[in-house]
Amino acid sequence: MTEVFVVAVDGPAGSGKSSVSKEVARRLDFGYLDTGAAYRALAWHALERGVDTSDATGVVEVLGDFDYAISLDPDDYRVCVGDTDVTAAIREPRVTDAVSGVARVPAVREAVNALFRRLIAACARDGVVVEGRDITTVVAPDAPVRILLTAAAEIRAARRSAELATQDAATVASALHRRDASDSAVVDFLTAAPGVEVVDSSDLDFAHTVDAVLAVVARTRGARDGR
Ligand code: C5P
Repeated sequence: MTEVFVVAVDGPAGSGKSSVSKEVARRLDFGYLDTGAAYRALAWHALERGVDTSDATGVVEVLGDFDYAISLDPDDYRVCVGDTDVTAAIREPRVTDAVSGVARVPAVREAVNALFRRLIAACARDGVVVEGRDITTVVAPDAPVRILLTAAAEIRAARRSAELATQDAATVASALHRRDASDSAVVDFLTAAPGVEVVDSSDLDFAHTVDAVLAVVARTRGARDGR
């Protein structure tokens, strides 16, 4: 069996990571793995159980019966916890506000990283685009393509607030900066690790960002085919 070709994409919220990674996967006929969804689903699960997500012991307890499933098909994106489809629920602000709490627990990161590696290995397509915060450094440091997708902080905040019509721009911006600050204390997703290619989407629209990522993939595949 040939190994699944991994395109690892890290970056902060509002960099365009999810929508760009999903489109890149479609264009390459690859799978798409959103790793943030697992942290969000665990935060949702903890909230359902009435667990305070800033309490690491409580979070580790609910990890014990966390029955998680995610599809890797970019055209059929679905996230489930047990029998419940949580695809929409995990995007709610109450979950977004709670997610950094679960993501900072080392036992959580170990468990979900093992799960991600199993999902990648079992992907039925030739490759998979995996997006998150620590994919290029921890989950798949040997991936043939490793990209850090960035954008200026004010641009990221503006993009997020355009997506979230239910909250005003200042609230969205301050929540995003708060989450960046607590997330970057756990993994550094604002600077590229050695060998990781930076794609800055600040001045690029969606289509051009997708093209920039596809160009990095094409270059790497070309170099591999020619070796
Ligand atoms: O990418 P998204 O905003 O959905 O990620 C939700 C949260 O999951 C992040 O704020 C971060 O706390 C956590 N996360 C992480 N490592 C990843 C992906 C997400 O810590 N690889």
